[in-house]
Amino acid sequence: MKALCWHGANDVRIGNVPDPTILNPRDAIIKITSTAICGSDLHILDGYIPSMKEGDILGHEFMGEVVELGSAVKNVKIGDRVVVPFTISCGGCFFCQRDLWSLCDNSNPNGWMAEAAMGHSPSGLFGYSHMFGGYAGGQAEYARVPFADVGLFKVPDGLSDDQVLFLTDIFPTGYMAAENCNIEPGDTVAVWGCGPVGQFAIKSAFMLGAERVIAIDRIPERLQMAKEQCGAEIINYEEIDAGEAVKEMTGGRGPDSCIDAVGMEAHGTGPMAMYDQVKQAVRLETDRPTALRQVILSCRKGGHVSLAGVYGGFLDKVPFGAAFNKGLTFKMGQTHMHRYIKPLMEAVQQGKIDPSFVITHKLPLDQAPHGYEIFRDKKENCIKVVLKP
Ligand code: NAD
Ligand code: ZN
Repeated sequence: MKALCWHGANDVRIGNVPDPTILNPRDAIIKITSTAICGSDLHILDGYIPSMKEGDILGHEFMGEVVELGSAVKNVKIGDRVVVPFTISCGGCFFCQRDLWSLCDNSNPNGWMAEAAMGHSPSGLFGYSHMFGGYAGGQAEYARVPFADVGLFKVPDGLSDDQVLFLTDIFPTGYMAAENCNIEPGDTVAVWGCGPVGQFAIKSAFMLGAERVIAIDRIPERLQMAKEQCGAEIINYEEIDAGEAVKEMTGGRGPDSCIDAVGMEAHGTGPMAMYDQVKQAVRLETDRPTALRQVILSCRKGGHVSLAGVYGGFLDKVPFGAAFNKGLTFKMGQTHMHRYIKPLMEAVQQGKIDPSFVITHKLPLDQAPHGYEIFRDKKENCIKVVLKP
């Protein structure tokens, strides 16, 4: 089959690889009909996610049709149309039982690598390095889905791929980011980053009752989408100091909660951003926490800081003293996908939201390397790329 493979930093190519096969009774094979490129894939493309190997298949946002089933999968049938959450979860462990699906104890066969770096291992992830399980991803014609009895969600009739594809990651991710803000009526939420995750965080904040959402980025078309499609007030941080602006817009008090939808590759200006650029380039720092610093300093006292943006390792000069003295609450993590897919699928079915609004590009799988390039470099007004195998 054809698949998008990683060959090193800034080198992804379409290659011919063996078709996946059933390895365990709880596996399924999916023929992929739609798959997308995520901001998290850019961290791999840019070479910041360790433990990648030449030839690894990327992609964790995918859906399709069930074409083969292991003997233990009883709740779906061959031919069913399904979406696949990007976190792999067993459904039976201590964490899955507590609805903490991205922390599954049984889905990462390379847990020891993560334990060495982090003390414990989170769940396995599709197409996301060997430290997260070494699973082949879904930017391909077919994929093997382990624990398919809990990891496949049937798509109701009448919904298109474009409407449900983002239930595999970015819609639940934006939603969990907003939920982690404990929004109360009248609240103002500020969202750093207007990529696809930021867009869904804004929409979700309104769904959960926020009165105002302030969105921060520097890319005009992304700010425009945040304003026109999602209803946010916008700040271009290259034109004005976003920290000062957010404070001013909230009467000096600061937003009730702040979402970081930027993560480890934040862009920035000034001496601090330069410091991060240099330290990350020479591998003395794993992440560039430019947005996170501003989030902490901007959030109102006693407010909630919610991190959807991915961080990988050790962060420098994070104002932890400010976080402590302002009494901030932090929530973060890979999304507990299985918790959100059904309720959010219902929201799509009821017409409360149409997630396809973020799609700017649809390309054949063959053109995936071009898709990565325009998404990374924000060329052609690219906001979200969907690939069609
Ligand atoms: P993206 O790269 O398209 O979006 C990031 C946006 O942040 C860009 O528009 C960029 O211009 C903006 N930005 C950069 N520096 C900034 C700054 N200093 N202040 C404000 N904005 C800034 O990616 P995306 O797909 O929207 O994903 C965003 C983040 O969410 C990534 O880190 C991704 O890995 C992460 N993510 C996390 C999960 C999860 O489970 N927690 C799931 C999916 C994605
Ligand atoms: Zn993703």
